[in-house]
Amino acid sequence: MKQITFQSPSLSTYDVYEFGDNENGPEIVFTAGIHGVEQTAIYVAFQLIELLPNYSLKGKVKIIPIVNKAAYFNRTRTSPYDNLDLNRIFPGDKDGSQSMQLAHAIWQETRAADYIIDLHCCGEHGSNYVMSLYQDYEAQYKLARQIGIKHIVRSGGASGQLFLEACKVGQQAALLELKGGQPDGMVDLETAKFAIKRMFSLLNSIGVIESNSVETEVAIEDLIFHENIETIRANQHGFFNPERHSGEHCYKGDVLGKLDNVEILAPYDGLITAINYPRYTFSGERMIRYAKLYEIN
Ligand SMILES: [Zn+2]
Repeated sequence: MKQITFQSPSLSTYDVYEFGDNENGPEIVFTAGIHGVEQTAIYVAFQLIELLPNYSLKGKVKIIPIVNKAAYFNRTRTSPYDNLDLNRIFPGDKDGSQSMQLAHAIWQETRAADYIIDLHCCGEHGSNYVMSLYQDYEAQYKLARQIGIKHIVRSGGASGQLFLEACKVGQQAALLELKGGQPDGMVDLETAKFAIKRMFSLLNSIGVIESNSVETEVAIEDLIFHENIETIRANQHGFFNPERHSGEHCYKGDVLGKLDNVEILAPYDGLITAINYPRYTFSGERMIRYAKLYEIN
């Protein structure tokens, strides 16, 4: 038997880029492409790989820019091997299906990390925010300040997510949602630039790099916390016309858009995490994703 590789790469590999050493600082891991189509996240990871050699590091940075190559080359969220959502099956299973084995391998790869930042995208209609478990773990407030992305959204808490399972075992972890990705792999360059800046600020804040030209953590007053995201769906077939943008903060009663001539009102103060473009929308389809403001006492 001989094996012919007619195209590289194999879809059951991932690449790990490592910078620095563990000597005198924390270890941080950045993952991207757990969902294959989420390309702004992947682009940010590759930019970090390009930029990090310009800094002297204390501690260690590991970057896995495309975790799920099978899904990446299929331009889909999930792997065509088994259609499992990789971010619902951590810590995985070494004897399971392709995605289960991948989850197991990534889980092992990230065990020594003090921090895990899992980069994702929430679609071309989306915006930039941190998915957090601030209501369950006090340390998430500190991490949110170190990341410094203004909007924090409470995770719906689905088990099997890398960041959530990592938090359960005492690691500092967050999931970043960035504009771009779905439906067919768009990189939002402006978002990427913003996210890279925030990631260097995080690295500075946790002591992995020292740079006077990079900001450190932001004040808690400069962050806005929200409950988990709800979907506002069309209750009839009609033309949806948005009047606001994703990433905008709204007050209760603000007009978010119209479905034919019916105004869609903000149900409470909160954040538009995503809003569709004008389109003919069918009954039951998504128009807006909205997260209610959370008041910190
Ligand atoms: Zn994702």
